[in-house]
Amino acid sequence: MKYKPIFVTATNTDVGKTYTTCKLIQEYGKMGLKVGVFKPIETGVRDIPLDGGLLLKEAKKTNPNLKNFTCNDIVPIQFSLPAAPYIAKKKSSIDVNLLHKTFEKIASLSDVVLIEGAGGLMVPVDEKLYMYDFIKEFDSVVLLVTHGKLGCINDTLLSINLLRALRVPFAWCVNLKEEDVSFNEVSLPFYEDEFGGAVLVQKHMRVLSENLLKLL
Ligand code: ADP
Ligand code: MG
Repeated sequence: MKYKPIFVTATNTDVGKTYTTCKLIQEYGKMGLKVGVFKPIETGVRDIPLDGGLLLKEAKKTNPNLKNFTCNDIVPIQFSLPAAPYIAKKKSSIDVNLLHKTFEKIASLSDVVLIEGAGGLMVPVDEKLYMYDFIKEFDSVVLLVTHGKLGCINDTLLSINLLRALRVPFAWCVNLKEEDVSFNEVSLPFYEDEFGGAVLVQKHMRVLSENLLKLL
């Protein structure tokens, strides 16, 4: 691995982690990097892990070493209940060694590994772990994806405050959906005052991918 891994998290589930990670894979592919992908835990899995499938399909376009990989090779822990791992795992336990073994194999075949968390940072994983613990477990920098609906400022600041408290390097971006037509009027002005603007998935993937590399 040339670079440290990037842990992609979001202010909540369904905000656009998988969507944004796929775009990031495309940017690194254009730079000639072999991208690896890793989703430590996926819940709500019926037959195959859907996030794992999307990520792997995109990563394979950049990384011939993953040619024979299946979703199960990048999503070592899967649960059928669509819930936080703490609940979805029922009586089973989270095998952190298995996560490391799976990650190391992917890392050995890649220039950079994108790790997609489940839900947001404070999702409980088991009695001892929260999702944010995986940042340090895999020695990663973080990409926080936030939404563009009313209320996004509060959600963004809560996650940023935790990342600052954890003292981990991070970048953040806004993933706008079609319905987020009021973002420029009701949310962006605060981001301009507080952060000098907002990085948009829809406009700034190139610069975002370069900024993340500088953190690695
Ligand atoms: P997460 O990984 O954070 O749970 P996803 O990336 O799976 O979220 O996104 C949730 C849903 O929203 C998916 O169906 C995805 O295709 C869709 N989606 C995400 N971002 C956008 C976007 N910018 N425009 C349209 N659809 C989007
Ligand atoms: Mg996802």
